[in-house]
Amino acid sequence: MLNILRNYQTVLERISQAAVRAWRKTDDIQIVAVSKTHPVGAIIQAYDAGIVHFGESKVQEAEGKFNRLFQLKPDLKIIRHLVGHLQSNKVKKALALFDIIHSVDSLHLGKEISIRAAAAGTEAKILLQVNTSGEASKYGASPDQAPELAAKLAELPGLKIQGLMTIGAFLPEAEQVRPCFIKLKRLSEQIAELKLPNVEMKYLSMGMTSDFEIAVEEGANLLRIGTAIFGERK
Ligand SMILES: *Cc1c(COP(=O)(O)O)cnc(C)c1O
Repeated sequence: MLNILRNYQTVLERISQAAVRAWRKTDDIQIVAVSKTHPVGAIIQAYDAGIVHFGESKVQEAEGKFNRLFQLKPDLKIIRHLVGHLQSNKVKKALALFDIIHSVDSLHLGKEISIRAAAAGTEAKILLQVNTSGEASKYGASPDQAPELAAKLAELPGLKIQGLMTIGAFLPEAEQVRPCFIKLKRLSEQIAELKLPNVEMKYLSMGMTSDFEIAVEEGANLLRIGTAIFGERK
């Protein structure tokens, strides 16, 4: 059986302890429960436990799951985050399915989102994904290029740039990812100082199951947590 409620409570407790260490308020920190590979029933259990932000990493998987979810629970009030890589040809669908996209890492993708959002008469909320670890396997703009990317995206209609996202380095010790999070926080301050139109550095999306306490200590306010809430993925 699923222990989602208990897992969630444990995660909340760990966040609150990390927040105390960093002199932060837990109210400023949101959990995005990453439900990829887990069934719709798990999302409903998490919602019943009090979670409202949900993250999926693939447009196609999310489409099927959200459709079923809203058939079962038409009144569900959740906020849907796309946390995985987005291909340009899926932008239109992604905009219909998600409230915020964490993974914008190129001008090309940003332009496509701008065109689609403007055509639909909406504004797309996006975060810029930055590759703070330098690992070649990871998506994201390089930290050096991120301010320039933000400046270019800021000129496009239909985009609201609301912060930065990173995936910490894959390293055996959680503590080793701390420099990635420090880097992202600094970058967000640097970009905020540029005072770009349509750019508000209000979200720092960083921290996953293996490293979310360190992310809290370094200023994260969106934690993308899958395994610690839903259990291992198959
Ligand atoms: C899967 C995923 C997560 C959650 O990972 P866990 O280690 O299970 O907490 C967070 N962010 C992204 C981008 C993911 O793809």
